[in-house]
Amino acid sequence: MVSILRVFEKLLLIQVRWLLSGENGRLCAGFVNSSWFRVRGQLLAMFSVPFGIGQCICGITSLLRIVPFLLVNPPGKKIQLLRRAAPPNIGPGDLPGFGIMKIERVEVFGVAIPLRGERTIAYETRSVQRSVVVRITSDEGITGLGNVDPVAGYSSESADEIVSTIREEFAPKLVGRDPANMNLLLARLASGSTGFLDSRAAVEMACVDLVSRSRNISVSEYLGGAVKDSLLFNAWIGISSPEQAASEAAMWKGRGFRSAKIKLGGGVKADYDRIKAVREAVGSDFYLRADANAGYDVRTAIELARSIAVFDLQLLEQPVSAHDIEGMARVRREGGGIPIMADESLLDHASLIRIIRADAADLIKVKVMKQGGVLYTKQIMETAKAAGLRCVLGHGFALGVNMSAEMMLAGTCDCVIDGLESVGPLNISDDIITRPLDISGGSAAVPTGAGFGVTLDMEKIARYRFM
Ligand SMILES: [Mg+2]
Repeated sequence: MVSILRVFEKLLLIQVRWLLSGENGRLCAGFVNSSWFRVRGQLLAMFSVPFGIGQCICGITSLLRIVPFLLVNPPGKKIQLLRRAAPPNIGPGDLPGFGIMKIERVEVFGVAIPLRGERTIAYETRSVQRSVVVRITSDEGITGLGNVDPVAGYSSESADEIVSTIREEFAPKLVGRDPANMNLLLARLASGSTGFLDSRAAVEMACVDLVSRSRNISVSEYLGGAVKDSLLFNAWIGISSPEQAASEAAMWKGRGFRSAKIKLGGGVKADYDRIKAVREAVGSDFYLRADANAGYDVRTAIELARSIAVFDLQLLEQPVSAHDIEGMARVRREGGGIPIMADESLLDHASLIRIIRADAADLIKVKVMKQGGVLYTKQIMETAKAAGLRCVLGHGFALGVNMSAEMMLAGTCDCVIDGLESVGPLNISDDIITRPLDISGGSAAVPTGAGFGVTLDMEKIARYRFM
């Protein structure tokens, strides 16, 4: 009897090894092993003590279980139930993720929307915003939206490249994955590809939106809750003549804005004249920021900072090139006391630490797109706060999804100063959400809907889509 049992055992072990040899073997292992050892123990109990009625009943019960199992799953056939549950692309160390939500579809739309006239900064003059919108759908039919709006000087990728990266490289790594496990998802997206912060941000935002919607909470709540319920916005003034800049600044103040950013470029004299004209137009009870977009060398930046210090600026943003952290620290020391803000110099945590160590800035400028997603941006903000730095948040050319994400994020930390720079509607002529955000009066409530609280307008997507 014992030898018969051992032959039977060997036959079953052959099937176990065959099952383990396949792609889904690791997933089957726990189930098959536990089933087999339970059955083996009960078979031994039945045959080794043949006169025990209790053991016989136990053994017969076991056989009633094992026979249907072997009929459905004979040697040569993989277990269908486990095969269906197995996510694709599973690798060593990954979690199988049974019984959890999974990403079923990743869609990417490239849209080109006209600006409200030409916009000039130190890098370029342009009249169209080319943006990327991502829609991720779970196996439960819940969708999440992500959106990035690349701009020269900040983004290493164009909108076309972001669409291709997400569609061809990231989407295959995402399908079948748990959108809630952001640590694992971001690690997979980062593996084998450095950079692509804009692409990763778009995907991360969509997952954050999706998971928040699945829990029927806002992204503010997902991040721990809002500390404020309304936001003030900062007006945007491009490189233009002193007269036009002054006219625009007066217009923004008249609408209710309490601060504005003036883009710099064209030399110290031209910048001085533009800022002077704006300050005279808005008076002293209005915050002014100036952004050089990395346009000057250290010597010129110091000269500029000293000359415009008289206009009581709230901050001077990125006076020197992105990689010249020591140079920015020197402008901060020798620039006449005007607070310095790092923008292009700040990407990831490592760059923030370099800025902190060099004592190069009083503030940092963060954007969900530039920093690689909502969570990375939040982490960077908290580190900056711990180091005594304040934050300015927002992308001046963000479409509605990105803008809503930045508004919700801004509401979660008191280190973000008033004057949110998520002012896409001031610069872009249309939007791709069904109810565009209204900031025309310089303030708005923090959105409260589930996720980012916005819905994609597919008619607008079709109208502006370029790929
Ligand atoms: Mg900037």
